[in-house]
Amino acid sequence: MPYKFNSDAHLLDQIRSDVRTMTSYVVPDANGFIKLDAMENPYDLPSELKAQLGKHLSDIALNRYPVPTYSTLQSELKKSAQIPDGFQTILGNGSDELIHLLSMAFSRGGENAVILAPAPAFVMYRVSALLNHVRYVEVDLLERDGEFVLDVAGMILAIEEHQPKLVYLPFPNNPTGCEFSRESMLAVIEAARRYHSFVVIDEAYQPFAENTWMDELPVFDNLLLMRTVSKLGLAGVRLGYMVGRADVILEIEKIRPPYNINVLTEAAVIFMLQNDSVFEEQAKKICDTRALLFNSLREFKQLTVFRSHANFILVRFPDAQAVFDGLKLHGILVKNMSYAHPLLKNCLRLTVGSVDENNKLLNALMVID
Ligand SMILES: *Cc1c(COP(=O)(O)O)cnc(C)c1O
Repeated sequence: MPYKFNSDAHLLDQIRSDVRTMTSYVVPDANGFIKLDAMENPYDLPSELKAQLGKHLSDIALNRYPVPTYSTLQSELKKSAQIPDGFQTILGNGSDELIHLLSMAFSRGGENAVILAPAPAFVMYRVSALLNHVRYVEVDLLERDGEFVLDVAGMILAIEEHQPKLVYLPFPNNPTGCEFSRESMLAVIEAARRYHSFVVIDEAYQPFAENTWMDELPVFDNLLLMRTVSKLGLAGVRLGYMVGRADVILEIEKIRPPYNINVLTEAAVIFMLQNDSVFEEQAKKICDTRALLFNSLREFKQLTVFRSHANFILVRFPDAQAVFDGLKLHGILVKNMSYAHPLLKNCLRLTVGSVDENNKLLNALMVID
């Protein structure tokens, strides 16, 4: 018999009221489904490499705390990501944690701090801003000729009006897959500079993109650049990193939980960075199959297929909910973005899977359509 207590109705009221009204981040049960909902790499590691990794991990002292400077991991990242000299890196338990640290670092009492971002963009920017009592201001993207572009004038006006502490520019953007033009990014970065605002360029999809802003870090003193190993094939490992000026990173380091990266993650990522050609080949394959999937989707009449520089494709259907439900009946799980933002009405986000998975997706769409 479990212990029975008299439940005090006021206890839960001690929890923040805004938290009480929130809903948890829902991840649907994907058991048995072809999983094209979360931008995961569909490819496994070669079995030889897996065996080596297993051996490598078995040598880790699990009874010891990590060394909180993570210097080996930092220097491997510096090499592999070609981080410019003089710039520092802070590590997060996924980019998600870095986004939380940023909100925390830029929050002020009384909700007078603002974080600005285009919309639709990555949901965690908003969630973490609100949880840290930062006001979150959005400027809608513009849809032009089947592409989403930054509303540069709108972003600049919002920067002038709200003087944000921080502006997010996801490059490429999730969930649209677009890469904002260089000129539009420059205009926002320059406007932000005039108001002493930082700009965080979130390059979560860099492995599948043509361009990067890493080389521009020394050019603009207000830039920070964030990346993750998740979309490349290590989503389960949880490691994100942010690169920036040493003095800025030093400040954010003060609020990083000292042991936020566990020793297994640390060791696995070091090992993977030393074998990164495997991931490079997989990313290349994903880009090639993205082109095939894109062309096949474009052949369906009535669909708007948005060009993508990431490992997913956003598609607008006449009736996205019906297609989403139909795909589910075919054992395929995608992400229905319809309710996330008015611009995404009737849009599904399709992760680029393996060639076989993409063919199953296309076959199912042909039957449903
Ligand atoms: C997936 C994603 C992230 C988060 O990545 P994690 O490192 O897995 O937390 C950050 N930004 C964008 C734009 C993403 O799509």
